[in-house]
Amino acid sequence: MKKISFLLFFALSISCANKEIAIPEGYACGSEFCTASGGNSLQLLLTENAIPEEVLRFPIQIIWISNQKDFQINTVKKNLNSTIHNLNTTLNTSHIAFNFSPEIKVVYDKKLTLEKLYRNDLAEYCISKYGSNEKINLFIIESEGILNGYTPVLTERFDRYKNKKGYNSVFIGNKAVFNKTTLAHEIGHFFGLQHTFGKEVTPFSTDEIPTGTNCFSSGDWLCDTPADPNMPIKSCNQNLEKSNFKPLFNNYMSYYPNVCKNAFTKEQSIIMHRFAYTYRNHLIQK
Ligand SMILES: [Zn+2]
Repeated sequence: MKKISFLLFFALSISCANKEIAIPEGYACGSEFCTASGGNSLQLLLTENAIPEEVLRFPIQIIWISNQKDFQINTVKKNLNSTIHNLNTTLNTSHIAFNFSPEIKVVYDKKLTLEKLYRNDLAEYCISKYGSNEKINLFIIESEGILNGYTPVLTERFDRYKNKKGYNSVFIGNKAVFNKTTLAHEIGHFFGLQHTFGKEVTPFSTDEIPTGTNCFSSGDWLCDTPADPNMPIKSCNQNLEKSNFKPLFNNYMSYYPNVCKNAFTKEQSIIMHRFAYTYRNHLIQK
């Protein structure tokens, strides 16, 4: 009871201090976009155009934060198992694997939501209270329906990850965790990937031109993900003949409907592996 009261007091005192961070309209993911310097660091990871053979294994702990006192983790265990299986299958081409702790931690919190955590910057608090600094913490938490996920990331100088606390977690909504794409998307952020449309979520506002000739300095900094206008679409097979843009509707790092998404590009896969090896090395299972 004491713990819960402290958390409520903590969250309340932060929001009373008027420090709430607004969620920009249209965003389903709260992860921050990297700076130009961060983009350059990502491109440096592509100097070798192949994924090393070695599989990088990361320990991961699921922490389910529920607003129901009598929540039974067994009711979602089967679905969680397929989430875990899907994640390992998806990251297979990047030669990254996750060793999930068999025990899932369940925490009761009546008030905490994904959006509240984001607005009040409570990630570090959650990690110190419920998580671990040695593993990846996968927090699954009630969502108000605005955000699907949020990964606290550094926007440049990624070498600081090994010394900075509060950056070894992924936060996913309690419904989005079962949709097969949100977790892959957030893990993409965890290993350095950016949204394919770049910094701006508004349709047709990407700074990458349709021909992609400025792909090194715009969009997601990668050149094998075509310029993505984050356009409204009617189907995953929409005819793009008359459009200047030819985005990949199936890319995990886009905002296209979940039903369309099932792939990372080769460069994205290389970035994830090399980013994991270079900047997330301290979390690799020894
Ligand atoms: Zn995102």
